[in-house]
Amino acid sequence: MRELLMVRYGEIYLKGQNRPLFMKLLMKRIREAVAQRDSKVWLSDGRMYVAGFTDMQETIARVTKVFGIHSVCPAVEMDKADFEAVCSQASRMMKDLNGSFKVTARRSDKNYFLDSPQINSRMGEYILNHNPNLTVDVKNPQHTMNVEIREFAYLYVEVIPGAGGMPVGSNGKAALLLSGGIDSPVAGYMIAKRGVELCAVHFYSFPYTGERSKEKVLQLARTLAISSCGMRVHIVPFTKIQMQIHEKCSPEYTTLIMRRFMMRLADRVAQQEGAQALITGESIGQVASQTMDALCCTDVVVSRPVFRPLIGFDKIDIIDYAVKIDTYETSCLPYEDCCTVFTPKHPITHPKLDKTQIAESVLDIEALIEEAMQGIEIIEL
Ligand code: ATP
Ligand code: MG
Repeated sequence: MRELLMVRYGEIYLKGQNRPLFMKLLMKRIREAVAQRDSKVWLSDGRMYVAGFTDMQETIARVTKVFGIHSVCPAVEMDKADFEAVCSQASRMMKDLNGSFKVTARRSDKNYFLDSPQINSRMGEYILNHNPNLTVDVKNPQHTMNVEIREFAYLYVEVIPGAGGMPVGSNGKAALLLSGGIDSPVAGYMIAKRGVELCAVHFYSFPYTGERSKEKVLQLARTLAISSCGMRVHIVPFTKIQMQIHEKCSPEYTTLIMRRFMMRLADRVAQQEGAQALITGESIGQVASQTMDALCCTDVVVSRPVFRPLIGFDKIDIIDYAVKIDTYETSCLPYEDCCTVFTPKHPITHPKLDKTQIAESVLDIEALIEEAMQGIEIIEL
């Protein structure tokens, strides 16, 4: 007898002929997440299993974060020949539970000496006789003892939801514009969840934003990297660009021009990284640079699609999401972002593209971009 985790995958089910490729990738992701010398991950009868771990709770916490997993069940695997022993084990697994229960048997071994209804009734009776706190309710039970008769017998009660989505690496790569705020980590998580590998780009305005603000961004990136299977973070020096915009451009356009620089630089980093799209945490109307007109003025400077998964989200819903994915607390640390340095009093909310281009034409855009690209620091997580 041994304890193991039964892993159920989600949308991969829909993948027809490509399913084996997705399964192989998901197994690889689970192996990386578990990363313990003695753990074993394998596939049998279309099911994934993890065993050989030393800490069950730690392993569950790691596996449930892997994108592509629908749920994880802590289970016991045992010899199926002695049905009395199987019932006794099932009964022990339910001894701390109260309320109603039923037994649900599945039998892929059609030669087993009991069929599913017989397993249900015999095991149900055994559990009932040995657990005075439990009653039977086959229609709407509070607990279900699941029994699967395969090569071995498998028993489980608990079904722990997984992260859902698709395994990372199944859907290309994108560059996330990662600030220290609440929105961008959530945006990155949502896209990574669809199987997209991430790299991150952070604009850093030293000394206006200091070491601690950089450390905060790296902390957010580390949290994301757990689900996104690692990440390269590109720290782009942004002070000179911001100073020049501040000194030379009309104040109402400075934020918009700064955003256009961010997009151009992220596009270049994406090019170097082989990323096919950009991701931002923008949401319509959240601030002046996120009106429809402003978004149109920033999109035109890049050659890749810009994914904005939060575009229709209210801030309060984004906060709920950030809490769920464990980034909220870090995002709330008080260190400044470069966006909050040099903010004009009255940023333009309905910019026209031609006027924006004229406003930034006083700058040597190419030279500034080139210099910033040369100064990038890359941190591998
Ligand atoms: P967040 O949107 O992440 O909460 P924020 O509200 O401070 O941070 P906004 O001003 O809303 O940032 O910026 C919109 C988007 O631009 C961010 O979601 C992020 O994708 C990108 N961005 C802003 N500042 C930076 C930065 N310093 N480095 C990288 N990307 C940034
Ligand atoms: Mg924001």
